[in-house]
Amino acid sequence: MNIHITCTPEITNTLIIDVCEELNASKGVLNFIASDILSQSQLNKIDKNFNKIKTIDSVSFNDLFKICDGFRNLNDINDDEFVVVLTSIRNQLNWFSACEKRNIFIDTNDWDKFTGKNPKYGICYQVIENIFQSLIGINYENAGRHPNVHFEKDGCINDFCKKKLDVAFKLRMADICDKCQQEAEKFNVDIDIMNHIQDIMENIRKNVRKLNTNENIKLEKVTIDRKGNIRIGKKIVDMKELPSTLFIFFLNHQQPISKTTLKRYFNKILGIYEKVDGRGNSKTIEKLIDPNGKAFRQNKWSANHAISQLLKESVVGYYIIDEVEGNKYFISLSQEYKEIDDNLTLF
Ligand SMILES: [Zn+2]
Repeated sequence: MNIHITCTPEITNTLIIDVCEELNASKGVLNFIASDILSQSQLNKIDKNFNKIKTIDSVSFNDLFKICDGFRNLNDINDDEFVVVLTSIRNQLNWFSACEKRNIFIDTNDWDKFTGKNPKYGICYQVIENIFQSLIGINYENAGRHPNVHFEKDGCINDFCKKKLDVAFKLRMADICDKCQQEAEKFNVDIDIMNHIQDIMENIRKNVRKLNTNENIKLEKVTIDRKGNIRIGKKIVDMKELPSTLFIFFLNHQQPISKTTLKRYFNKILGIYEKVDGRGNSKTIEKLIDPNGKAFRQNKWSANHAISQLLKESVVGYYIIDEVEGNKYFISLSQEYKEIDDNLTLF
């Protein structure tokens, strides 16, 4: 399936090439094509009101989709192929991106602030996010009330993000939740497309992570007291008992662990929970580590979310329960930054 990426005249060709290179780095059925920049005279042909587009403060969604359609007509692009217009012209609702059928626009402003240095990662993520949403029938008009758009952050591709920093969070989770996977099945989204979207998400996630590891970063120590209260540096982490239990368990553990092997650590996890909760309950822990249940994902999310609210973007990756090597989880922080009370390590 072809995805044609173009931009309004004020954007440079380098951005289109960068974005396409990043997206094409994972091989699959989606083919991202770096198209020519829309010239001012082409824009004028699409609508004569666009002759002053660079001086306009903001434009409507309709105008932006009109530009997509204009590009489609100028280049004779089929209705089933995607057209993506990158633009720094603000839209009236100040959304980062939106889609209508197979037309997508993406706001190119400020992405460099959240992925550090290179804006392409945030933009690439918006491209695949909108492709996925379009394929499951989400568009700009129904996004505000669609049951598969998550207004409570879930780390899923369909999280509705109010801030660009929230996008960084779902980018790091590189996940499509079960509910949205089921929706894709309902809409008969080709499994090859789903796999390719997942691969691209995973690739972006890895590259952003690499980018952050190359920075000169100052890390602070995580301290766990005997009751399981968590501090990073001087900051108190506000986390409920179950997310705390998972966090402390993974912090204690040096190697990545898959969901299916968590049951081997049942006693250890229960031991931590008893200390953190003051009572503990083996049924709750059975649920927590059930590889087919929702509790693990939800509580991992809560733990990661609490941490991402507290720390700078460049260091968050060291402290969260991260997914590595396909379905294995661990916290990458090295031992020297951990200080855990014996009460929570001796089981
Ligand atoms: Zn979802």
